[in-house]
Amino acid sequence: MHCIVIGAGIGGLVSASLLAAKGNEVTLFEAGSLPGGKMSEIRLGDYRFDSGPSLFTMPFILDDVFKTCGKELSDYMSISPLEPLCRYIYPDGTRFDNFSDLSKTLEQIRSFSPEDEENYVRFLGKSAELYAKTAQAFLFNPLAEWSDFKTLNFKDLLSINAFATVSESVERAFISSYLKQFFKRFTTYNGSSPYKAPATLNVIPYVELAQGGFYVKGGLFQLAKAIEKLALDLGVSIQYNQPVQQIEVKNKKAIGVSISKNGDNRFVKADCVISNADSVYTYTKLLSDKHVKSADKKRFEALEPSCSGFVLQLGINRTYSLLKHHTIFFSSDYKKEFDEIFSERKPAEEPTIYIANTSFSEDGHAPQGHSNLFILVNAPYTHKHLSWNELKESYAEKIIQLLKANGLVDLEKHIISKNIITPDDFEKNYNTNRGSIYGLSSNSRYAAFLRPRNRSSYAKNLYLVGGGTHPGGGIPLVTLSAKHAVSLIERDFK
Ligand SMILES: Cc1cc2nc3c(=O)[nH]c(=O)nc-3n(C[C@H](O)[C@H](O)[C@H](O)COP(=O)(O)OP(=O)(O)OC[C@H]3O[C@@H](n4cnc5c(N)ncnc54)[C@H](O)[C@@H]3O)c2cc1C
Repeated sequence: MHCIVIGAGIGGLVSASLLAAKGNEVTLFEAGSLPGGKMSEIRLGDYRFDSGPSLFTMPFILDDVFKTCGKELSDYMSISPLEPLCRYIYPDGTRFDNFSDLSKTLEQIRSFSPEDEENYVRFLGKSAELYAKTAQAFLFNPLAEWSDFKTLNFKDLLSINAFATVSESVERAFISSYLKQFFKRFTTYNGSSPYKAPATLNVIPYVELAQGGFYVKGGLFQLAKAIEKLALDLGVSIQYNQPVQQIEVKNKKAIGVSISKNGDNRFVKADCVISNADSVYTYTKLLSDKHVKSADKKRFEALEPSCSGFVLQLGINRTYSLLKHHTIFFSSDYKKEFDEIFSERKPAEEPTIYIANTSFSEDGHAPQGHSNLFILVNAPYTHKHLSWNELKESYAEKIIQLLKANGLVDLEKHIISKNIITPDDFEKNYNTNRGSIYGLSSNSRYAAFLRPRNRSSYAKNLYLVGGGTHPGGGIPLVTLSAKHAVSLIERDFK
């Protein structure tokens, strides 16, 4: 059978590899010139930066993909746990280094909010329970047809806290404002607001704090390179700079794709098509109105995207002892920040700032004694009243000033190279729905059910993978979306 995959993001590369490992002929068309999609990399002089993800969680999911393909992940890439997982810095200067070793974390908590030591342990226990109740039901299950729903344990589902928000449940669980802000932060791992998303998302801390956070040697982009190599080793034909124009459908079946380049149009036939392009973009742009009615297209456009991100990459000629591999500078008013991003849809006046500093862990990413700072703040998804071109330099300056005020002394005097990536760039460069970086938001308790499924209901033999599909955004869930799509293809073509 010949399968076409559209897009070389993580979802596309994993599905192509799994399909090829099962003996199918696979052709992957990528609009850009690199593997990885949003998981990308840039080099500015002697500085190397990731341009997308910087934290790898749940590595066992990708490990299983390699094993299914008859390979070993460790032959393709090298990963290592990070300790501390992350350093958190609060506006009053309080520091919290968080470790996956519980005793080390509790020692830290004792120093700034001893009243919450037991609450921390209790909350992590609850988070582990949530994982046990939800992971099999919502993550490892394609939820595509009735037989998949039969495996859900409805008694469990009544106790997953879907009716409170993350913020409400965290407010109840902790006394100290430090730990409240800390636990609210995990909702941003899928681009949502803790003040809107259901408390079921309190499962995320368990994934990082108990299962661990990992770094990929050479930078996270090496993960994309590793899966690209896996796909190539299994015989996938990867064709870069080949933007798919349309998914062709005949008699309600996907029959291939058309590619238009430099005025040349060509049709490539396939038995099945897997789209790793953003799900909203796939339904509204790659399928004609004949196959997805305009009312349905409007319904897809109405799904709320996850937040976007504003990225500042700075090569600087010094190190700061304040910075670990991952460091977060919290804002002083978290609620205001999320209201600005998700309700007012404007850049936060005083954003929480995340810095990944891979030169802390590995040589060669910056000259000796220098640092490569990947600085990310959450930003609203794009809309026509927000022009990042006009705003980007002043917003970058604001971030630099905030970092200076929080301990990165004289930062602007040490900048050797600088690059900015805005929400508009994420939208334009990868065809992502309004520049969202994780796909669709989880800002409602129904979001998990509204997310497009991995098997399309608009055309037979059409499947969707990636952050905008079930089960959601982030490297592990996108990998699962690809596993689901391939298992559905196996069911359908048995
Ligand atoms: C700044 C940032 C930080 C992040 N941090 C983390 C993190 O720390 N940890 C984590 O787990 N996740 C993180 N994420 C999220 C993670 O990167 C994404 O969820 C994941 O990489 C998305 O993969 P995907 O398969 O959905 O494809 P995408 O990366 O969206 O790739 C889709 C591909 O399809 C191609 N395409 C689109 N249209 C066409 C077309 N018409 N024809 C051909 N090709 C097409 C695009 O060019 C692209 O290459 C972050 C993302 C960003 C941007």
